[in-house]
Amino acid sequence: MSEQDRLGLRTDRPHPARVYDYLLGGKDNFAADREAAHKGLQANPDSRIPPRENRLFLRRAVRFLAEQGIDQFLDIGTGIPSAPNVHHVAQAINPRSRIVYVDNDPIVLAHARALLTSHPDGKTDYIDADLRDVDSILGSKTLRETLDLDRPVGLLLIAILHFIGDEHEPWDIVDRLLAVLPAGSYLALSHLTGDFRPEAWEHVTEVYRRQGVTMRVRPKAQIEQFFTGLEMVDPGLQILPAWHPELGEPTEQPPPSDGQVSVYGAVARKP
Ligand code: SAH
Repeated sequence: MSEQDRLGLRTDRPHPARVYDYLLGGKDNFAADREAAHKGLQANPDSRIPPRENRLFLRRAVRFLAEQGIDQFLDIGTGIPSAPNVHHVAQAINPRSRIVYVDNDPIVLAHARALLTSHPDGKTDYIDADLRDVDSILGSKTLRETLDLDRPVGLLLIAILHFIGDEHEPWDIVDRLLAVLPAGSYLALSHLTGDFRPEAWEHVTEVYRRQGVTMRVRPKAQIEQFFTGLEMVDPGLQILPAWHPELGEPTEQPPPSDGQVSVYGAVARKP
């Protein structure tokens, strides 16, 4: 049995984490992932922009939360490590920050060590679990040992919910996660949309669907629904580059257009 088979990587099929890695310019991907990515690039030549903008949004959102005093994070759908990850950003502000990473892809598990390079004053840990099985995340000993759920937590759902079809009730999933977190916790979330280029995204999702990857772009109103009952942090749900650009690294380049990015994101507080 090859090392890849032993790890359960199923290298014959594209996996979202590895396609995403390839689009970011990473090396942790296989021929099937690259082929899927290239078909996606044919359908939408701007396909590298959403992953890049997601990473930048993730870092700005974590910086924002750390500056609000959040020192515990639950990052579900963390992806193949791509430094700086959540703990690098959070622990640069507060070295005592504690982070639990979650993903269901065996390749992320294989790289989890890179997610566990915590500052000695804080802690990081990893759970191999599926977001559709909320109980397996909430019931995890690792979660309870690493995070104190009596204190506010930053829940990060960055670029994962568009892999969850409506039949798995993603709004209910988010509600159930938030229900166990105390007042003062935050949700940071980003999600692909077809609002600006409906035909191109219909084409992209169909291309991925044919290769066995569920991808659901959703309109703004449906993405806003994930924040029901929460207090939106200004400026609310935005196409990513418009969400607190001042928290990012300064850049000379003009931001990509809304259609090129096609990802909404926001941060909101549980009252
Ligand atoms: N949050 C990271 C990575 C996004 S890529 C970032 O913004 O950069 C999406 C990640 O979600 C992938 O690593 C994929 O493996 C993971 N994922 C997709 N569906 C999942 C599920 N049902 N449960 C857990 N993780 C999932």
